[in-house]
Amino acid sequence: MIDFNVPPSTGKETYYMKQAIENRKICGDGPFTKKCQAWMNEKFDVPATYLTTSGTSALEMAALLCDLKPGDEVILPSYTFCSTADAFVQRGATLVFVDIRPDTMNIDEKKIEAAITDKTRVIVTVDYAGVACEIDTILAIAKKHGLKVVEDAAQGFGSTYKGRFLGKDCDFGCYSFHETKNFSMGEGGALVLPDLAYRDQAEIYREKGTDRSKFFRGQIDKYTWVDYGSSYLPSDLNAAYLWAQLEEYDTIYNDRMETWNFYNEALRPLADKGLIEQPYIPEECGHNAHMYYIKAADLEQRSALIKHLKNNGILAVFHYIPLHSAPAGIKFGRFHGEDEYTTKESERLLRLPLYYGITQEDREKVIASVFSFFK
Ligand SMILES: *Cc1c(COP(=O)(O)O)cnc(C)c1O
Repeated sequence: MIDFNVPPSTGKETYYMKQAIENRKICGDGPFTKKCQAWMNEKFDVPATYLTTSGTSALEMAALLCDLKPGDEVILPSYTFCSTADAFVQRGATLVFVDIRPDTMNIDEKKIEAAITDKTRVIVTVDYAGVACEIDTILAIAKKHGLKVVEDAAQGFGSTYKGRFLGKDCDFGCYSFHETKNFSMGEGGALVLPDLAYRDQAEIYREKGTDRSKFFRGQIDKYTWVDYGSSYLPSDLNAAYLWAQLEEYDTIYNDRMETWNFYNEALRPLADKGLIEQPYIPEECGHNAHMYYIKAADLEQRSALIKHLKNNGILAVFHYIPLHSAPAGIKFGRFHGEDEYTTKESERLLRLPLYYGITQEDREKVIASVFSFFK
């Protein structure tokens, strides 16, 4: 059986986790958390990043920092994971879903402005499959209307837009290190903070509403409960797991890219015949090989293809059921304008197995099975 996903591990995870135990520091913000954060600050050239317990909690921190009031509106794509929306629903916001572009599956930047009302406060973007949305256009719209932009770059660790790493051009950037993502710590994530003006407040939300981070930096001589907050900092054991992967960043990145490029080359003849559609990468975007998907003709053909692959021992999966058609999406939001592509394109999309360390033999089996289906 070829799994759809295998959590990444480079071999040094247990060594570093053992070190964390020997450090006698397994709670949050220990040496490995600091190493991971410093690595990201340097790599992305940002003043601050915070490891969090998940991509979801990074989004929750971003939503808290947006300082929303009940009834405020948040614009977002419907084709995304529920956490993109949930973080804002928790703040009492109303969701306004905007259609996606069929080529990248990202929010259609041309359809955003029409969805803005006098209640709109935030635009949440998703970089689907690690391919950046049209960030510059979205930032210009946000600036014109005085809105914040939160970037759900959960899938985009290592991806770039016009040569700049994702998350750093918006107000808040959110990454995930879930086991299905390129780099993992089991459950985990990171909040990227391009503007230090938010640092104190971010640290308060992350540390149970206390100013403990300031205390540890020696800026105050005792810490206290100053606001509401939660516990968004992960154990240093998980950070130790992540550290083993950041150390091997290039190895993991290149291995995934090799699989992606192999699939892309091998499947081209099917695309040339019009039997499938392949991912589109805009020129401005440097992707991270997070996902390889193809599009079948329709829902029925996709279901048959999944079944065919399964019969050949290959697990391929689809996602997402558009949020505006889910019970919570109906309760907390509305779709602005026409759903031209969100539902239709989501029903055609199929993700092929892609993980760090997949063998060439398995890559070839995947391709052979896709070809035998279309024969
Ligand atoms: C994975 C993912 C999340 C959630 O990340 P977790 O770490 O699982 O909480 C949010 N948004 C998108 C687009 C994702 O792919």
